[in-house]
Amino acid sequence: MTEQPTAPQTDAPIEASESLQAETPRFSDLGLSEKVLAAVSAAGYLVPTPIQAQAIPIVLELRDIVGVAQTGTGKTASFVLPMLTRLEKGRARARMPRTLILEPTRELAAQVEENFNKYGINHKLTVALLIGGVSLDEQVKKLDRGVDVLIATPGRLLDLFERGRILMNGVEILVIDEADRMLDMGFIPDIERICKMLPPSRQTMMFSATMPPEIKRLADTFLRDPKRVETAKPATTAKTVSQFLVASGREQHDKRDVLRTLVRDSKDLKNAIVFCNRKRDVQIVYRSLEKHGFNVGALHGDMDQRARMATLDGFRAGRITLLVASDVAARGLDIPDVSHVYNYDMPVHAEDYVHRIGRTGRAGRSGVAITIVTDLDG
Ligand code: AMP
Repeated sequence: MTEQPTAPQTDAPIEASESLQAETPRFSDLGLSEKVLAAVSAAGYLVPTPIQAQAIPIVLELRDIVGVAQTGTGKTASFVLPMLTRLEKGRARARMPRTLILEPTRELAAQVEENFNKYGINHKLTVALLIGGVSLDEQVKKLDRGVDVLIATPGRLLDLFERGRILMNGVEILVIDEADRMLDMGFIPDIERICKMLPPSRQTMMFSATMPPEIKRLADTFLRDPKRVETAKPATTAKTVSQFLVASGREQHDKRDVLRTLVRDSKDLKNAIVFCNRKRDVQIVYRSLEKHGFNVGALHGDMDQRARMATLDGFRAGRITLLVASDVAARGLDIPDVSHVYNYDMPVHAEDYVHRIGRTGRAGRSGVAITIVTDLDG
């Protein structure tokens, strides 16, 4: 990957007295369309986040991009906003999606769809979600009518492609989101197959919190001279999060006891995610908290889609205060305001720690992350 100097975005008039302000980019300086700017303003955003300020002009120049960014940095809007601007020209044809976004989990796919609905309020675009666990019929019907934006998990997409229900040769833009998580979940061969099915003339964007060699290789193979944009350093946690370790006995009942005390004693706890390493423990900790009278929900990979969505909606709406979750189920969830993260188990990989902690302290807010440790965690 080579770095190339970006052309400065100097279209907007800058008055001399505003020279200081000029260093803080504005959404209106980035080349976005009026419709998109109106939606951004309706969303209440004042200034672009660093990843948005860097990525949006490059995407609008039609260049490929590798974005190294954690969730919580505003990276979703950094591709959704310029895509909306670009999609204003042209229209969808039956079975031939114009843009394709690959997500590792159904929840993330659903969240990107919500982003399109939120920022696309002034557009008449068709967005389809192609994810496992929901009725195929509905998805196919929508595809047949023609979609502007297809958001998919790799397995379901390949499945439909093989049945001849979808044509890939109209795809103008491909987004590979959360590439490092795709790698963890064994999706890279699927991603490679999908990339080979798409027109080579497409624009490709890839986002990843970290850049392991396999992801770099993927970028080298399937992206054309991409511009790299980066915000927070990979594998670092946000500065706004206070992090603590709390010692516990090694037995499960000791840890559950410590967790309850922590939750009861935490000041300003609004809502929290409790992470467990294993699905089985998610279930056990969930039941235990429920028995002790906490307002709690659970999220793990074995739950069906409807139950997951219901839990997530309850948590977002504030009906559920504590969410017990596994890493895969919780990856990248867009829950804007989580005050606390508890690691019931010390995560096995440092990157999982970073991702878990990334659930709090988002978009400049403050957060607390507490990890329960036993003598087995040395
Ligand atoms: P993401 O990194 O895409 O998961 O976004 C994290 C959160 O930041 C989401 O809740 C967004 O709604 C919010 N967000 C995105 N862009 C901005 C912005 N420019 N200003 C304030 N909040 C934002």
